[in-house]
Amino acid sequence: ARKPLIAGNWKENPCTVQEAEALASEVAEATKQAGDVGVVVIPPYPFLVPVQNAASGALMIGGQNCYFEEKGAYTGAVSTAMLSSVGCTYVLCGHSERRTVFRNDDNAINRKLRAVLDHNMMPILCIGESKEEYDAGLNKAVCAIQLSKDLKGVTGEEMKRIVVAYEPVWAIGTGLTATPEIAQSVHDYIRGYLAKMYSREVADEVIIQYGGSVTPDSVDALMAMPDIDGALVGGASLDGAKFGRIINYKK
Ligand code: 13P
Repeated sequence: ARKPLIAGNWKENPCTVQEAEALASEVAEATKQAGDVGVVVIPPYPFLVPVQNAASGALMIGGQNCYFEEKGAYTGAVSTAMLSSVGCTYVLCGHSERRTVFRNDDNAINRKLRAVLDHNMMPILCIGESKEEYDAGLNKAVCAIQLSKDLKGVTGEEMKRIVVAYEPVWAIGTGLTATPEIAQSVHDYIRGYLAKMYSREVADEVIIQYGGSVTPDSVDALMAMPDIDGALVGGASLDGAKFGRIINYKK
């Protein structure tokens, strides 16, 4: 059975280390009542270590991005070796904001994913279609293209360590959550696609998260779907009470 995984992607928030520590403590406290669910917080780089300390072992931490070169003259870049050395377990690869605002292409995403795997962390590979693509009925086709490009060279054993996050771009930060039925249908498609790329055995082990306006009101019905194994939460992960309710979702 796949163990559920809920992650909070803080994006470029909050503004101070004091706020980050307070939020991490609140979330750590909320994990005490939670069931058998992994909880990851993904703060901005400068807050990784303080958040880790404030969480006193109750939370896993992840990086929002990385650069594929190990070290060198790449001003502003942070490598997977660095993320691993401060205790990150997960690293987001290919978040839609990286794809659009920072123009990361599938080749760069593939190289980042490789670097994360090589440093024994787990990539959270984010995929999903835009509003135009959704309206044109291309949601599954877009996911298939992104999977085939971003997973180039990844073996079946490595695939078992990769989390896929289905985040339809039209649902991110808009309050428009995909219905549980729509999300389930795409998750089922993604798992089937991975079964074709690898095997049914591999596909059945892959955690597939849903992301896009997940809130305390929508989480229970989403998590009840057979192929939704977790959530990648943006806005609602910045509110300790809301994220606390999300990780304590009702079965
Ligand atoms: P929201 O939950 O704010 O829609 O963000 C989703 C997301 O992009 C998480 O990575």
